[in-house]
Amino acid sequence: MTERLKEQIEQLEALHTRLGQVRQVPPALLQMRTSTGDEFRVVKEIGEVVMSEPVQAALHQARESLERDGASGIGTEVRRENRKRRRAPSPENYTEERRTPTVLLPRRPEPAVPLGELGAWARAWNETHATAKMRIKGRVVRLALADVMTVYMGVGVGRAGEVVVETIRAFGPREGGGGRGESKYEVYGTVSQQLGRGLEGGDGGDGLGTVAGHVLAYADLFVRRCGVCGRVVSHEGHVPCVVRWWDGRTWAGAHAGCDK
Ligand SMILES: [Zn+2]
Repeated sequence: MTERLKEQIEQLEALHTRLGQVRQVPPALLQMRTSTGDEFRVVKEIGEVVMSEPVQAALHQARESLERDGASGIGTEVRRENRKRRRAPSPENYTEERRTPTVLLPRRPEPAVPLGELGAWARAWNETHATAKMRIKGRVVRLALADVMTVYMGVGVGRAGEVVVETIRAFGPREGGGGRGESKYEVYGTVSQQLGRGLEGGDGGDGLGTVAGHVLAYADLFVRRCGVCGRVVSHEGHVPCVVRWWDGRTWAGAHAGCDK
């Protein structure tokens, strides 16, 4: 994610430099009165660069990021709030914020799903979740969170005949591949690791309903403010809050480095 962001910033900077070159091109040329020479080539190249896939992706992401920042109110207001919090943390708040999740990463317990009821259960699940969609194909359950991520769960059957999650992988919402391999984005690799924690714990935390609930807790992956440092992206690496755990009342979220 970080590498990709750096790459995109570089691409936009390069584009900015090239756009500067347009200003040196005679206006007559931009009106297409002539069509030969180096200057025309420069204009044509810039057009091609702007329309190229990486630059379009970078522009797209920049705009999305801007919209997100606007929607979640990032800016001076938040920075002020953070500074205030750092200056005068009350003892209660301090312990609250520093509370660390256990190694097993508690999930909210949900009723077991008997194998024979899997289809009906998934249909009911889809009816109650407007922005998420579950699809079953053989032993793979695909769970798509609109515009956030698509998760593939390899499922098996537990001792009591319930559906359990054996493997889990997260991908970008527009990544192809049908769940094979790994995501090319670091952030989804990290989320996969987080979701995979405790699946072999044998404590019942691997039930399909329980794991699906954990996946749903990532619906705010890119806008969630860290419960420890208060930021959306981490101070180092510009990574969103990739850790989610059930604190007994609600889903808590933090950066991978902040949850320790
Ligand atoms: Zn943090």
